[in-house]
This record gives sequence, C-alpha cells and structure tokens, in this order.
Amino acid sequence: MTDTAAAADTLVIACPVDGALNRVPRSRLGAGPKCGVCKNPLFAGKPVELTADNFDRHARASDLPLLVDFWAAWCGPCQAMAPAFARAAGQLEPTLRLGKLDTEAQQAIAARYNIRSIPTMILLHKGREIARTSGALPAEAILQWARANIPR
Ligand SMILES: [Zn+2]
Repeated sequence: MTDTAAAADTLVIACPVDGALNRVPRSRLGAGPKCGVCKNPLFAGKPVELTADNFDRHARASDLPLLVDFWAAWCGPCQAMAPAFARAAGQLEPTLRLGKLDTEAQQAIAARYNIRSIPTMILLHKGREIARTSGALPAEAILQWARANIPR
C-alpha cells in the first residue's frame, strides 16, 4: 500500500473526552475504537459538550463531519429537542460527530457562526459550514436532514 492510500484509509478522530487527535483506520470505525491517550471509547453514542477548548479539534482538525446543536438552558424548544438530538448521536456515529454548544457559556463561538435563533443546527466539515437549519426537529427529521447533507 502506498502512503497516499494509507492516509486515505485513516481518519483523524478527536476524542470526545479529552480532545486528543487519534488516527483510526476507516475499517475500524465501527469496531469500538478507543482513545490512545485516555482509553475512553471514541464513540460513546452521545453528543460531545463543545467548548472553546475542544471546538476546533472537532470542527476543524477531525476528519469526521460535526453536527452542532446551538442551544441555551432558557430555550424551551432547545430543551424539547435535546433527547431527540442525543438519540440521533447513537444513530449517526461513527459517520458524524454530534456536539452541543451552549450559546450562553460559549458566546464567542456562537457569534462566530452568527447564531440568530436557537435551536440552530449546523453541519461542519474541516472548518467549513455545509448546512444549517433553525427550529426544533424530532429525532427522525434530525436523522433525515443530517444524512441528506453529509459531505460525499
Ligand atoms: Zn481521550
């Protein structure tokens, strides 16, 4: 195998616990890969809490597309959508990483993405915005919207 082929078959995955960047063969994505640093599973079937410390690792450095739920504790529709978004994480991993961004605690990131209403979901890949939608969606609609927008 050439170096180029090896690189194409290996993905950089950010750990959901410590943000460490792991290289994982594409063929092992579904085989319960663990973080080489903290030994936690790289896919826990739940959204990652995004902060200023780990946002760029998941949104830019990782090879996985990142689906972000921009939310706030005071937002009723955000609270209503939270269980559906959490369930979607179990369905969409390891194709996508799902993350939650508290727009009150992380105002600089919310401002960077010009969030005007919440909940807003944005699909990012390698730092690029692929798609966004605003308003609470049920789990099935989250899955459909995400799958329709996954970059090829
Ligand atoms: Zn880790």
